[in-house]
Amino acid sequence: MMQLFMPLNFLGFVYREIRGALANIERMFSLLDRVPMIEDKPSATSPSLTQGSLRFEHISFSYDGRKILDDVSFELPAGKKVAIVGDSGAGKSTIVKLLFRFYEAQSGHIYIDGEDITQLSQHALRQAIAIVPQDTVLFNDSLLENIRYGSPNATDEQVQGAIRMAHLAGFIAQLSDGWHTKVGERGLKLSGGEKQRVAIARAILKGSPLLVFDEATSSLDSHSEQAILTALKEMEKGHSSLVIAHRLSTVVDADQIIVLSQGKIVERGDHHSLLKAKGLYHKLWTVQHQY
Ligand code: ATP
Repeated sequence: MMQLFMPLNFLGFVYREIRGALANIERMFSLLDRVPMIEDKPSATSPSLTQGSLRFEHISFSYDGRKILDDVSFELPAGKKVAIVGDSGAGKSTIVKLLFRFYEAQSGHIYIDGEDITQLSQHALRQAIAIVPQDTVLFNDSLLENIRYGSPNATDEQVQGAIRMAHLAGFIAQLSDGWHTKVGERGLKLSGGEKQRVAIARAILKGSPLLVFDEATSSLDSHSEQAILTALKEMEKGHSSLVIAHRLSTVVDADQIIVLSQGKIVERGDHHSLLKAKGLYHKLWTVQHQY
């Protein structure tokens, strides 16, 4: 019996290793998928972008001939917070994809600190923006290294500071191996809210002037939501912030809220003026707060 068990046990080990490796390859492809398709122009420049102000000017964009964004213009002044809201499919994430140059708009221009992003090197663009994506990729490594990912020169003290600001310190203190705990495919599984806070810590560490928070669609319990809101407030201090929001609790304090419907801006203003206007924002707010 033992003779049979040993090879089976070994085969089980091999299977788990291969499955783990495949999961990593899948992750790698999902990362590669996010690498912008558009190459640097020979004349591309790398000015230092320190304010993170953003301007969309008459941006129109179609996928396969279907218009997704129609003449979208808005401005995010340095140090302020602009939020984009709207129904599912309104075009919110497309705004982020264009900002990262995953695609090029058919008309219009996007400027960071007054520089047209099509004239910038990919390196300069990536340095200027830190993103908290909807779905955070975690590697089979310690929490510490997962947070340090993207800022390899950050000291342990800097990582600790980012952990505190992202409100992860309490969570990490409960783990027996603390920040050395392995996470990812073969380690501890983090909840959606914890993963987003890891991404917030990464973004804080990166120190870019323009922050993009692409809120996850999955619902969170009120404790996780509160932790994210607090972390987000810390992250936004001293930065220019663009928030793509699904839960309107994230946008109440925005300097300006842009309401998108079928690729067009239909309303803009702050939370109170938009509620008063009793338009689409008021409708979205009422739907989310009726329970
Ligand atoms: P959600 O709130 O559900 O995340 P959204 O407002 O972010 O939605 P987008 O993801 O920007 O919406 O999508 C806008 C429209 O573009 C949708 O109708 C979507 O089906 C379409 N779309 C998105 N990506 C592609 C693609 N790669 N090819 C073709 N159409 C796409």
